[in-house]
Amino acid sequence: MIHKFKHKFALFFLIFSLLSFIFPYNPDGMPTDFKTNKKQVVLTFDDGPSYLYTDKILDILKSNNVKASFFLIGSRMIEYPDLVRRISREGHSLGNHTYNHIRLDQYVGQRVDDEIAETSRVYENILGFVPKYFRPPGGRMNKTVLSTVASHKLIPIGWSINANDFLYRDQQLDTEMIAKKVSAVMSHIESQLKPGAVILMHNGNEVSLAVLPKVIAYIHSKGYTFVTLSQVM
Ligand SMILES: [Zn+2]
Repeated sequence: MIHKFKHKFALFFLIFSLLSFIFPYNPDGMPTDFKTNKKQVVLTFDDGPSYLYTDKILDILKSNNVKASFFLIGSRMIEYPDLVRRISREGHSLGNHTYNHIRLDQYVGQRVDDEIAETSRVYENILGFVPKYFRPPGGRMNKTVLSTVASHKLIPIGWSINANDFLYRDQQLDTEMIAKKVSAVMSHIESQLKPGAVILMHNGNEVSLAVLPKVIAYIHSKGYTFVTLSQVM
């Protein structure tokens, strides 16, 4: 049963990745960064919790004393509530990333509301509170979704730098390929880094894990600090 569910989930992500490719990031009125004069950035991880990667990401963040922000999927949270508790306990910000990770801009009314409300209920059940941040799957936003998010008193936030680590999900990559992808991610981040940037990563894959310590080291070497969403908005 669990195996079947994971299979379905992998298929869903494949279709979703293709759709994201055909219909690129559309923030439509949603903030994609935050205002600051200081050298500060927010590091975000979408699509968790993942039984394969979330613990490892948290270990890397902890050993570098970095706090990040996690946008979690309700249907995965109920599978791995301990991971949700660990993220919260270790001082990272949390956000709502819908219950089924659907492209909300293709739906109207009740379905959009249910995706958001159900995930908030899961947060309330696991942690006893509802985080106030929201990110739509694929960054796909429109006026209906924006007003539904507002009616739940959630703050929507996109991203200004996409690390593109999700492209390698479920791929079998050898060491050489991983090194190549890591250097592609790094040169993109190096060219885009600026005060108030919001960086998008995922929870994730072997590329996410390999590149994360390098992302942290580079950003620190440029005199930047990592802040969480709750520190800046
Ligand atoms: Zn996502």
